[in-house]
Amino acid sequence: MSGNREKGRDSSARDERFSVNEYLERIRPLAARVGFQMETFAAIGPYGLPVLVRGGDMEPLLYLSTGVHGDEPAGPLAIERALAADSFSYDFGWVIFPVLNPTGLEKGTRETEKGIDLNRDYRYLRAPESRAHRELLATRNWQFHAALGLHEDWEARGGYLYEHNREALPNPCQALLSVLEENVGIDASGEIDGWPTTSPGLIHPPSDSGLRDHWPEQIYLLKYHTQMSYTVETPSEFDLERRIAAHSEAIRVFGDERVWIEDRRKS
Ligand SMILES: [Zn+2]
Repeated sequence: MSGNREKGRDSSARDERFSVNEYLERIRPLAARVGFQMETFAAIGPYGLPVLVRGGDMEPLLYLSTGVHGDEPAGPLAIERALAADSFSYDFGWVIFPVLNPTGLEKGTRETEKGIDLNRDYRYLRAPESRAHRELLATRNWQFHAALGLHEDWEARGGYLYEHNREALPNPCQALLSVLEENVGIDASGEIDGWPTTSPGLIHPPSDSGLRDHWPEQIYLLKYHTQMSYTVETPSEFDLERRIAAHSEAIRVFGDERVWIEDRRKS
C-alpha cells in the first residue's frame, strides 16, 4: 500500500519467501532476451539495486517501479513474468525499478532492514535506497509520459488504483481497473486508505508535494519527472498467483497504446 495505512503484517504467517539475489539472477537473462539493459546503480549490503532500461532515449518513455515495500512480493514477481512473456510494449521506452527495497523483500518486512518506509522517504532521503534512486533519476534527467507503481495492501478487499492526472490527459485508467476487476475483483469500499473513492476502486489523493512532509515515491515523481502517475494495489490476503496475474496484466495494458484514451469522467 502506498498511502496512510501503515499496518504491515508479519509475513512469516505466510510462505511467500523472496530471495533477492536468486530473483535478480532469474530476471537478468529474461531481461537481456527482450532487449533490456540491466544495470546496478547502487549496492545495499549484499544486494545490488537494479534498473532495467529499453529505449531510454525514446519518446514516450514509461516508468515502472515496485518492490518498495518488502512484504509485497507480487509486483517484482509480475515483472519477472512480464519479461518472460515479452509483454513490455515496444511502442514505448521503459525505465524499470523491480526491487527498490531488497533488504525488506528478503526479510518480508514493509520497511528496510533499518526500519525506514521508503515510500515516505523521497523528500528527506534518510535511506541509501531512496537517495541512490533519486540521484540516478536526476542524473539521467528522465521525463516520463507516465509512471506506474505496483503495490499490495493487507487491508484491501479487492484491487484498487491511485490516480494522479491533473491535466486529465488520455490515460489507461479504465483498462487498469478492468484488469483488477478480472483478476482480483475491485475493493468496493466507499473510502480506501482514508480517501473517498471517485468511482469503484479509484482514489485521487492530492498530488501536490507542498501539502505533504514525507513524500511517497509517486509524489516525488510528479514533482520532477512526470505529469501522470498510477499505482495499482492488490489485496495481500488473496492467493499470490492471482496477485501476480493482476500486476503482470497491468504492466501489459499500461504499454498498450490503444488503452490510452480520452478521459470523459472529468468533462
Ligand atoms: Zn506498498
